[in-house]
Amino acid sequence: MLAFGVQAKMNVVATTADLASIAKEIGGDKITLVTLAKPTEDPHFVDAKPSFIVKLNHADMVIEGGAELETGWLPALLNQSRNDKLTAGAPGHVKCSTGVSMLDVPATLDRSRGDIHAAGNPHFAISPSNGKIIAQTIAAAFAENDPANANAYRANLKTFIAALDARLVEWQKTLAPFKGRSVVAYHDSWPYFAREFGLKIELFLEPKPGIPPTPSHLAEVIAKMKSEAARVIIVDAYLNRRTAETVARETGATVVPVSQFPGGIKGTEGGYIQLLDQLVGSLASAFNANK
Ligand SMILES: [Zn+2]
Repeated sequence: MLAFGVQAKMNVVATTADLASIAKEIGGDKITLVTLAKPTEDPHFVDAKPSFIVKLNHADMVIEGGAELETGWLPALLNQSRNDKLTAGAPGHVKCSTGVSMLDVPATLDRSRGDIHAAGNPHFAISPSNGKIIAQTIAAAFAENDPANANAYRANLKTFIAALDARLVEWQKTLAPFKGRSVVAYHDSWPYFAREFGLKIELFLEPKPGIPPTPSHLAEVIAKMKSEAARVIIVDAYLNRRTAETVARETGATVVPVSQFPGGIKGTEGGYIQLLDQLVGSLASAFNANK
């Protein structure tokens, strides 16, 4: 068990801005928080700076998504940070995928096909129900690592979940008229969000997660978009918007810039709840404009 004095705050490192935002809600003023990936960066391919090693070396805890989201860059950094508190299985190493029902877990693992979602879809955080699970996981980990402040973490968890639940009712209302609508995404980041709100997000500009679009694949997507009357294409800020715009021209669709990460696009800097507010609002506007 680690001991933190009156002055000492837990040094927490989060891999991505969504997890950091939830950690901030739970940790409040009891923690100091560093986020590694920029909210405008592809979480699969983060530029692993040497400064990250120093940050991890000084950390009491690391919070990652897990499910192989950060597999391309985090393990090597953790290795080089030589921090026993953060080794896999240690109380200081938190995997937010714990307790989440993973979608799209492949029956057989074949990395040769280039699919970077080899452990199931790792973009589970962009779903309010999973946001609650993540908050619970983080709160339990904070309480375990810093028992003196366990009550504060529990209270913050309660407040956050109440706020999220209240907004979820509104988000469900906003998207209810669009149940069953087909939405196209550049990258397959949205199955949890789609399930939560009854949307169909099953067409992707990438032929496989992490594999750039090809002309033959795009032709297929365009044909399916026409048959399914899919008129909305969502694109993360770090992906190629031009491809989406080309497809949109062919199909009369609207390109909607989105982010999975607070701060990834304008109007989402306020954190996880504001991010979902923005996402739900921009989708509803796009649906309304494409009746
Ligand atoms: Zn992905």
